[in-house]
Amino acid sequence: MNENISCNQSKCLYCGGCVPICPRNSITLRETRIEIDDSCNRCLLCLRICPVGALEVLEAKA
Ligand code: SF4
Ligand code: SF4
Repeated sequence: MNENISCNQSKCLYCGGCVPICPRNSITLRETRIEIDDSCNRCLLCLRICPVGALEVLEAKA
């Protein structure tokens, strides 16, 4: 599980729009969820592209 960005599954439409936007190929669209892997560098492009605001930044763990 990635600790940077999280997909709120109650908001996500599974439109796939965030997948090609990611410059690091960190996002994978599964049938019932969005997976974000550890290659994510928190560029936040995916947050800006998501039409429903389903992607959220997680606070770093202390
Ligand atoms: S924050 Fe950037 S690197 Fe991370 S998943 Fe979103 S688009 Fe990809
Ligand atoms: S762009 Fe938003 S609604 Fe579309 S698949 Fe990505 S997280 Fe879900």
